[in-house]
Amino acid sequence: MGRSPRIAVVGSANVDLTTFVHRFPKPGETVFGKEFHLGFGGKGANQAVAARRCSADVLMVARVGDDLFGPATIEHLKAEGIDTAHVQAVANTSSGVAPILVDETGQNSILVVKGANDLLMPADVDLASGALFQADCIILQLEIPLETVYHTIELAQSHGIRCILNPAPGQRLDLTRIAAVDYLIPNESEAEAIGGMAVQSSEDAAACAEGLLDRGLQRVVITLGSQGALVAGTDGTRVVPPFPVEAIDTTGAGDAFIGSFATFLAEGRSEGDALERASLYAALSTTRIGAQTAFLDRAAFEKEIERRKGVSGGRAGAGS
Ligand code: ADP
Repeated sequence: MGRSPRIAVVGSANVDLTTFVHRFPKPGETVFGKEFHLGFGGKGANQAVAARRCSADVLMVARVGDDLFGPATIEHLKAEGIDTAHVQAVANTSSGVAPILVDETGQNSILVVKGANDLLMPADVDLASGALFQADCIILQLEIPLETVYHTIELAQSHGIRCILNPAPGQRLDLTRIAAVDYLIPNESEAEAIGGMAVQSSEDAAACAEGLLDRGLQRVVITLGSQGALVAGTDGTRVVPPFPVEAIDTTGAGDAFIGSFATFLAEGRSEGDALERASLYAALSTTRIGAQTAFLDRAAFEKEIERRKGVSGGRAGAGS
């Protein structure tokens, strides 16, 4: 299919600091933890890694701190093969970090410190514009300042570059400033936050997506976890069925879906084909632990498609 698709992610990079404990400490108390794990995350970096593993050329525009985690994050992205020319450290600032506690019942409590992510400004995006204009698609989330998100959407629109917004974490947005995105891709709770209505079933999701279209959005894809996804546009609304899998950890499924969908679309696949493939790519990510650690590389993904075709003979679209 010609040259590799080019994907740009303007977004967050975090370090997850996960401590497994017998029980959560009470205020003022010190307890021993059982185990500690440091992992690279942030929705922006996760989606960049998903796109890269699907074999896109990926550029990331992000800010990290001038602490131990800043250079480590850049090295990690480089090792994935991601262009980090526009991932820079900000002086006197911490990196984005997420200290996470997980107790023996599996319950977690999470703190997110935005750190340098909150200092990715519209002017930083302008500095990267030469590289961004080479992209087939720009992907955005909401872990950076909203003003930067709006500015990047305007930039993408004025240069005719496809733009995908994953409005996560969910919050109310100025819909007039995101109306130009080609795809708005929330999960159920993010759709609720933007649409201002409860989304608990695919019927609710359809009503919410149609409401967003009425308010000026072009195309809306609401991801529905194990129920698959729903796509809505002027041509109607339809459900993208899920691929049944033995899910063990759904962390990062949405990021897998978005990074892979952007890549499959940029390869020139039809929207239907790209959605079906993204649905399988995301489903497979739930069968492994973690977010980035659970994303398959392209060769393994294609092998899985072939294997499934052989077994079922159906859902061949994911392989064509
Ligand atoms: P998020 O991680 O943002 O909450 P979702 O949970 O909606 O996003 O998952 C994104 C996509 O991943 C879904 O649309 C679906 O295609 C796939 N997916 C997630 N969980 C499962 C599951 N248990 N079984 C099959 N597919 C899943």
